[in-house]
Amino acid sequence: MGGRIIGALQNLSNATIIDEKVLTECLNEISRALMSADVQFKMIGTMQSNIKKTVNLDDRAAGHNKRKIIQQAVFNELCNMLDPGKPAFVPKKGKPNVIMFVGLQGSGKTTTCTKYAFNYQKKGWKPALVCADTFRAGAFDQLKQNATKAKIPFYGSYTETDPVKIAQEGVERFKKENCDLIIVDTSGRHKQEASLFEEMRQLAEVTNPDLVIFVMDSSIGQAAFDQAQAFKQSVAVGAVIVTKMDGHAKGGGALSAVSATKSPIIFLGTGEHMDEFEAFETKAFVSRLLGMGDWSGFMDKIHEAVPMDQQPELLQKLQEGNFTLRIMYEQFQNILNMGPLGQVMSMIPGFNQELMPKGREKESQAKVKKFMTMMDSMTDEELDSTNPKLMTDSRIYRIARGSGRSLREVHEMLEEYKRLAKVWSKMKGLKIPKKGDMSAM
Ligand code: GDP
Ligand code: MG
Repeated sequence: MGGRIIGALQNLSNATIIDEKVLTECLNEISRALMSADVQFKMIGTMQSNIKKTVNLDDRAAGHNKRKIIQQAVFNELCNMLDPGKPAFVPKKGKPNVIMFVGLQGSGKTTTCTKYAFNYQKKGWKPALVCADTFRAGAFDQLKQNATKAKIPFYGSYTETDPVKIAQEGVERFKKENCDLIIVDTSGRHKQEASLFEEMRQLAEVTNPDLVIFVMDSSIGQAAFDQAQAFKQSVAVGAVIVTKMDGHAKGGGALSAVSATKSPIIFLGTGEHMDEFEAFETKAFVSRLLGMGDWSGFMDKIHEAVPMDQQPELLQKLQEGNFTLRIMYEQFQNILNMGPLGQVMSMIPGFNQELMPKGREKESQAKVKKFMTMMDSMTDEELDSTNPKLMTDSRIYRIARGSGRSLREVHEMLEEYKRLAKVWSKMKGLKIPKKGDMSAM
């Protein structure tokens, strides 16, 4: 869907005058894309009308400025929708902060509880976990396992069936032990909704949490609003955590959760492991929602890491988007030298995680060098081509023989090229903001 939005904004950039028709077309295109990213229909409507208000069509200045105005308006409007206007409760170190997690079964509460605790523990806090889920078989074992791995104290019971009693005992106990972050994990069954919410109400009553966090799965889609609202009506939800952002979902439902709970998103879950957890960044999230990757973060890095005199060349290459094998070769060289451009290239999504996974730099370097020897056996025509059909079997055979590598290895290198070319193509034609103009995209 990202392609669609970028496409819509590009149509706009081709039009010299932005009249009502162009604006409407553009907004419709963006709306369709947001709908497929699970943003609620009503919210899209609000965004549309707000943008129509912001963009002053009577102002007949140069088309270029109008395009920028609309881009900025779309981006800002989505950022605004994620900002409920008041920050979440911030735990105070050294005080017994009680944090209660709520959300439907499977949303990721138990996993996220530990991630949250671990995140604070790393910063010198004393967290503790209380398992107030007596509904799901194995709930206590799951929490116990996670907590043990992270060396976090926990409380729960195999025999007690009353979650309220366990929660009360656990919180009291950890208060006595001077824990400063007491986290209460709860159940989130699918059925018996009324009794689930009654249970949440009682749990909140006895534990008196400083913060209730609503945990939602990024893929729940349009159901997000009703779910979040139902929890908000029984307990005072004050923050949202969106999980499974490592999956395919763009997480547009998060906008609904913010609107239903009037609470900000504070963290994102990005995997099953303890450290796959990130502080929420509005701009990065909106960039992702619009399918732009962490574009603004990446641009910040370019401005930081690349000397001014080398920026235009790199930016031009990014915009042209014609990623040839020769560019790949040059970028490999940069990465191996880890000069400023190398540093930046390794920050481009796709360049880093797959090609150079953390902790395996030596192996990755050997792989990159191997790829480069194969490319040394390529002709100029092959290196500079943008035609994927050029690499015939006989050429591949020649390259393999010339570099003393197997056909499989040449294919592997070409696969890598295809993957990177795909990443690169997303940047084609993007207007790259200048320093200080980052909020535009
Ligand atoms: P709960 O029922 O709300 O307590 O949910 P769990 O914590 O038991 O999580 C349900 C499933 O989702 C488990 O298999 C977790 O490993 C998985 N999970 C939780 N958070 C994430 C995440 O951020 N990414 C991925 N890929 N899986 C997650
Ligand atoms: Mg659980």
